[in-house]
Amino acid sequence: MSVRVVARIRPLLDTENDRDIIVRADRADEGKPLTIVKIPSPKNGAEEFSFAFNGVYDQSTTQEELFTAEVAPHIKALFQGLDVTIFAYGVTGTGKTHTMRGGLKLAERGVIPRLLSNVFRRGKKIAKDSNGETTVQVALSYYEIYNDKVFDLLEPPEKRTPSGLPLREKDGKTVVVGLSERSCEDLKDFEKLYIEANTNRVTAATKLNAHSSRSHAILRVKVTQISGDMIRESTASAIDLAGSEDNRRTDNGKERLIESAAINKSLFVLSQCIDAISRGDKRIPYRESKMTRILSLGQNNGITIMILNLAPLRSYHLDTLSSLNVSSRAKRIEVREIENEIVFKQPPRTNSGLGGANIQRQPLR
Ligand code: ADP
Ligand code: MG
Repeated sequence: MSVRVVARIRPLLDTENDRDIIVRADRADEGKPLTIVKIPSPKNGAEEFSFAFNGVYDQSTTQEELFTAEVAPHIKALFQGLDVTIFAYGVTGTGKTHTMRGGLKLAERGVIPRLLSNVFRRGKKIAKDSNGETTVQVALSYYEIYNDKVFDLLEPPEKRTPSGLPLREKDGKTVVVGLSERSCEDLKDFEKLYIEANTNRVTAATKLNAHSSRSHAILRVKVTQISGDMIRESTASAIDLAGSEDNRRTDNGKERLIESAAINKSLFVLSQCIDAISRGDKRIPYRESKMTRILSLGQNNGITIMILNLAPLRSYHLDTLSSLNVSSRAKRIEVREIENEIVFKQPPRTNSGLGGANIQRQPLR
């Protein structure tokens, strides 16, 4: 099991009033790739915090560049039987949906349509190269987890039961009972299903008084390769997570508090799982949230990529810092390695209040 945690900083939007950019990408040394995110201390603007990642993508990064760098290299592994899991994590408004789904124009397409396009292309090539001896089937499931309940997005909202779909253990794996699966022949098929499902999501959301930023949306692409009596199955999962902001600060209605508790718990468990995987721990606490349990995160051989989406603006300051803390905590090992080299001049010090294990205070130069 391997894990990569990367950060993507979105550009300033034309519609935004706040023009005060405080987040920037940096490198450990001249000529090295971008791996560091810098942000001022909220208490003392003259101090700056640095967070290290496996990679950092700045505002100029295109959808194609991100996909080519972080997802495309793992498609081969997917076809070799490994599971690939891609998360978009971050505050609402930072570009999670843009990164995963993206826009309709070709250049604006996000990770999900690009992933499918690559999977279909490789599947066709495998079938062709084997003279039809190997067949490749692609099937989709798409669901959301809202308030710790699972709802199928491939079914119309009227079919939802308020309690959501139950989970069951089967052969040591967690299955969502009654979750639908649709086979998909090509990108056109996929797009039709996906657009319809996203409409289901929005319609159901208004009825349940839930906004899409309060739920995790999980797309599961199952790839089955059949060759004689040999069957190889692997899955790629793409997850647009609920917003990581702390809603208790701005909105403390009862319903929002219940939502926040469910989101905080699952995002906390997710970060602990990623942390444990990156440390190479034997015990991954994946059972402690529904999302990580369904994904069996860390249980199979596979590749996990967490993309931390960031808005560069001051109006996001505290929420940005806490999201950097959570995702960078997962990167403790790499951070130490970098610390030993160049980046940090001072020994690590825990910053009170923010809970980060590896925030570094650095005076501005
Ligand atoms: P989230 O899903 O995290 O709430 P969105 O993906 O909806 O955030 O992004 C918020 C806004 O910013 C949207 O209008 C989106 O189109 C825009 N946006 C996000 N990332 C980018 C980017 N890399 N380039 C251009 N626009 C972006
Ligand atoms: Mg979104």
